Amino acid sequence: MKISFKKKKLLLVSLMGAIVTLCMLATPAKATDVSIKPKKDVYTIALDSTYAPFEFQDSNGKYVGIDVDLMNAISKMYGFKINKVFPGFQAAVDQVQAGQADGIIAGMSITDARKDVFDFSEPYYETGIQIAVLNNNVSIQKLEDLKGQRIGVKNGTTSQQWLIDNQDKYGYSIKTFDDGAGMYDALEIKDVVANMDDAPVLNYAIAQGRTFKTPFDKIPAGNYGFAVKKGQNPELIAMFNAGLAKLKASGEYDRILAKYMGGSEAAKKQIDESTFSGLISNNWKQLLDGLGKTIAMALISFVLAMILGTLIGLLSVAPSKTARIFSTFYVDIIRGLPLMVLAFFLFYALPQALPLLKLSDLVAGILALTLNASAYIAEIVRGGINAVPTGQMEASRSLGLSYNKTMQKIILPQAIKIMVPSFVNQFVISLKDTTIISVLGVIELLQTGKIIVARNFQSFKVYLIIGIMYLVVITALTKFSKVLEKKVA
Ligand code: GLN
Repeated sequence: MKISFKKKKLLLVSLMGAIVTLCMLATPAKATDVSIKPKKDVYTIALDSTYAPFEFQDSNGKYVGIDVDLMNAISKMYGFKINKVFPGFQAAVDQVQAGQADGIIAGMSITDARKDVFDFSEPYYETGIQIAVLNNNVSIQKLEDLKGQRIGVKNGTTSQQWLIDNQDKYGYSIKTFDDGAGMYDALEIKDVVANMDDAPVLNYAIAQGRTFKTPFDKIPAGNYGFAVKKGQNPELIAMFNAGLAKLKASGEYDRILAKYMGGSEAAKKQIDESTFSGLISNNWKQLLDGLGKTIAMALISFVLAMILGTLIGLLSVAPSKTARIFSTFYVDIIRGLPLMVLAFFLFYALPQALPLLKLSDLVAGILALTLNASAYIAEIVRGGINAVPTGQMEASRSLGLSYNKTMQKIILPQAIKIMVPSFVNQFVISLKDTTIISVLGVIELLQTGKIIVARNFQSFKVYLIIGIMYLVVITALTKFSKVLEKKVA
């Protein structure tokens, strides 16, 4: 039987069609996969500040870890960029809830309570929670032995929830820390008798040289998941799930785990950080970056505060009663608020009430510092002007000079001389206050130190170096201000 060329072609085409249809039916996952696409070019992803081996800085100051690598691999797979922020666990949770970040990957356990406010991905790592004590502790062998003891835990974690739920049963007290470094240091100096943290993290810290042990088995605590705010950015969850499946299938997932869990490079590099020279040579770049941010924050906020504060200060001595009332009101409110509350308000609270006012941590920090300093500067300006004898204003006005002219030509030149030392003093205070902004996750000098300590446990040496850095800068500034004062005088 002969088949014509036309018929052959038809047969071939229909055969191919059938194959394609069959393939599509047989692999529905692929078909949905194609439809998962990023909706933005850049997603902000929040992580813990240090939670080795899931996220931590290596000795080059680069963030690495299982969470970091997984997220990088998935973003590459789907062609979106990620802006990673590392504010710490509770702050990362808050940032996603406030809409500051699109997603969180932070060794975050999937729990029913969290499912009310977050959408989670498929689990990517199994965890448990566990108690750690100092190596030489022999008295704690079981949970019952914790009676009357103080236990350290990190704020906002599942360990904290477990400790609260079981406090009556076991009769311990709880001390809460903002970050892992602080909590582990507290155990080292015996401020707490035990810590509770996730088992993989504790065991990693022990493998890295922390002189702790886990006296009994971990308590099961589910799995880690990537999360977004409930109902937001569903495509991120879809990409994470499909991406994770691919990473597992290709063996890349196992390679990432092995890289951090199996006696890694990062682990070996840490050893030389036990000396001052090792510490400095490994971290000088990070430390200078941190110092740069500290100085930049202090300078920018101080310049802005000088402008705002001078204005408010001038209003406080103005002839208009409304102006004076406004000025008093402003100074009272700002001075009545602790800087940290102001910073939390601007960064976390404001965007929840007014979504358009979503500020970055750095901007919110600078704004908080500016407002805070402006109130004090307003007071310095008012005090300086009031220190000039009132007779001078009266005399000049009776000679026919206007209020503004008198201020400009007679009062202010004298007042400024009086104000200069107080301005310098205020600048030094502002510089020191930048440390408070570290609570928003801004990696200024103090936060830089905390992150380094979290990696190498050298609290004494690192904080000594940080202290000296502040001291040098502030002493230099004070010397400079003495020169300035002489010049003005
Ligand atoms: N897995 C714990 C939790 O989800 C702790 C997470 C963390 O400290 N980064 O609460």
